Formats: sequence, structure tokens, C-alpha cells
Amino acid sequence: MNKYWSPRIRDLKAYVPGEQPRDRILVKLNTNENPYPPSAKVLEAVKNTADGRLRLYPDPDCVSFREAVARQYKLLPENVFPGNGSDELLAFCFLAFFGPGRPVLFPDITYSFYPVYADLFAVPFTPVPLDAEFRIPVSEFCRENGGVIFPNPNAPTGIPLAISQVETVLKANPDSVVIVDEAYIDFGGESAVGLIPRYPNLLVTHTLSKFRSLAGLRAGYALGDKELIAALDCVKNSFNSYTMDRVALAAAEAAVEDTEYFRLLAGRIAATRDKTAEALRSMGFLVLPSAANFLFASHKTVSGEYLQKGLRERGILVRRFQKPRIENFLRISMGTEEQMELLIKALEELLK
Ligand code: PMP
Repeated sequence: MNKYWSPRIRDLKAYVPGEQPRDRILVKLNTNENPYPPSAKVLEAVKNTADGRLRLYPDPDCVSFREAVARQYKLLPENVFPGNGSDELLAFCFLAFFGPGRPVLFPDITYSFYPVYADLFAVPFTPVPLDAEFRIPVSEFCRENGGVIFPNPNAPTGIPLAISQVETVLKANPDSVVIVDEAYIDFGGESAVGLIPRYPNLLVTHTLSKFRSLAGLRAGYALGDKELIAALDCVKNSFNSYTMDRVALAAAEAAVEDTEYFRLLAGRIAATRDKTAEALRSMGFLVLPSAANFLFASHKTVSGEYLQKGLRERGILVRRFQKPRIENFLRISMGTEEQMELLIKALEELLK
């Protein structure tokens, strides 16, 4: 450990991202990307930007993108905060709304970036255990906390909360910001965006990495009351007033305007998910009910470690978390139909 590091950084357990293979082509079912490419309109927008305008700085306020997102969700541009993917948005949110004196509550099995940001930004936090069926126990979030964050659907379980349950948490936390991380909402969940006009304490984050197939770009946005967005703008300008680059802005705007195309893909992905869940169940897996673009499954007799290793040897990557209660589970991102057939065939071999 380098003596020059600040003590806070020395003690940090940094987030470990899912593997991005560099050596050979693998069937990548480990980081929940969309298996289908973005639309022609998005690619055209990237090409047009790259052809002429990279010499110029981007718009620091991302006005055109904010307007496009606002139109999409029937909100105003001042309800929209753009960012370089939702990981960055979440960092700004932790800084703006949580901290000493504003502790945050999140599920104990959830997106593993939350405890990392809490440590990095010195935010006290309480992880709340999931119930026996791996669901978020809504009643545990129904006291004034200082701050709340959870994904809907939850990750890595994929289990969604109903909009009425989200509203229950909002009502019970009138003086705290409740962040609903909707990274996977468009694959089958109920979005909380429609509640924004009634709840000034609600902030919803979306990414363009999953439903809109742009993980390679880093683009996302937060939606909420204009007072919350103003706090995020203040934090952002203290880091980097430009936020998104020109290529990301152009592509993200085109993607937001091409929702019909992405809805078709999401429908296809949801059908693949339901078919894959069925196949896994018939092979002896416990598969949690997912509304996301991934499945979380553990075999009733064979270890997750053995299966993950065996799949890797066959060129298929899936994710596993070394955490009590879930170390036997595999998180399997939905690929194309052909990729899922390869997965099922490989699992059949491993379970023989
Ligand atoms: N939230 C959740 C729940 C996620 O699983 C992810 C993807 N790893 C993100 C946020 C971040 O997505 P991105 O930074 O690509 O927008």
C-alpha cells in the first residue's frame, strides 16, 4: 500500500466490474448488455457527429438531450439530469443527497456499487436483508431514514417491486430522497416516473446501457423534481461542467427518440428470458422471477462455482457474487436465442 495514499482510500474496497474479455471471443452473458445493436438512427447520429463536430466542446447543459428526454416522459427539461451512465449519476446522487447525518438504507443483496459509494463519500449505511424469497422487504424501508436507494427490478435478483410498493416507501420518507434505480425497468417492470409530479422526494435513474443498447458509450439520466435536479447540477459543475461528450449526446438523443425500435428488442429479450427460465427450471435450477434482462438461478444440487468454471471453459461467461446466501447463484444475462441455446447445451453437459 503506497504511503502517499489518503487513509480513506487505503481502506476502500473498490467495486470490481464484471469481466470484459480481451483475449478471445466469448459468449458474454455476464454484464447485462443488450445482445442486439442500437438502431440505424443512432448509428447515423454517431457518424454525423464524428464527421464534423468533434473539434468543438459539447453543450455543458446538454439542452437538446434534456428536451428529448423530457418529451419522452412528459416532464420538463428542468426535471432531467444527464450523466455518463448511471454509475456516474449515482455518485453525484450520493454526494448531493446522502452523507454524515443523512444515512442511507438499501437492500443487502443489491447493486454492489451502493456500499462502495457509501464508503467513498463517507455516508453511513444500513443494508436491509431480503426476505426468505429474496424480495425487498418494503415495510423495513417505511421509516424516515435520511435516504433510500434500491433498484427496481432489484439486481442481481431481477425481482420487481410494484408501483404501489414504491409509493409506500415514498410516503413513509417525506423528508428523505428516495432513489429508484430503474436500470432494467423497460424489460417488464412498472416505472415510478409517473409519480414524480406528486413526490418531490423521488429521484429515478435510467441508463442507456441496457434497454437502449449503448453500454459502450456511457449515457444515462436522472429524473425528479427540479429542486433535486438543481442539486445534481451543482455537484456536477464542481467536477466537470461538460458531463457528456458530443458523440454520447448525439447517440443518446437519437436512442431516446427511437423508443419503438428498442421496445421491439425488449420484447424479444423478455421472450428469451421466459423461455430460458423454463429450460433452467426443467434442469433442476431454482430461478427467481425476473422482470429484467437477466436471470438469477442456482442449481438444487450442483455448485455455482463448478458451473461458472465449466461454462467459462466452454467459452461462456456468466456472473457470480461471492456473498453469503447467493454464492451458488449464477446471474445470466439474456443473449440472442442462439447464444442461449449454447448456454443450455453447455449446462446439460455439465449436469450429466
Ligand atoms: N444500476 C444497476 C442496478 C446496474 O446493474 C447497473 C449496471 N451495472 C448500473 C446501475 C450502471 O449502469 P451504467 O453505468 O452502464 O449506466
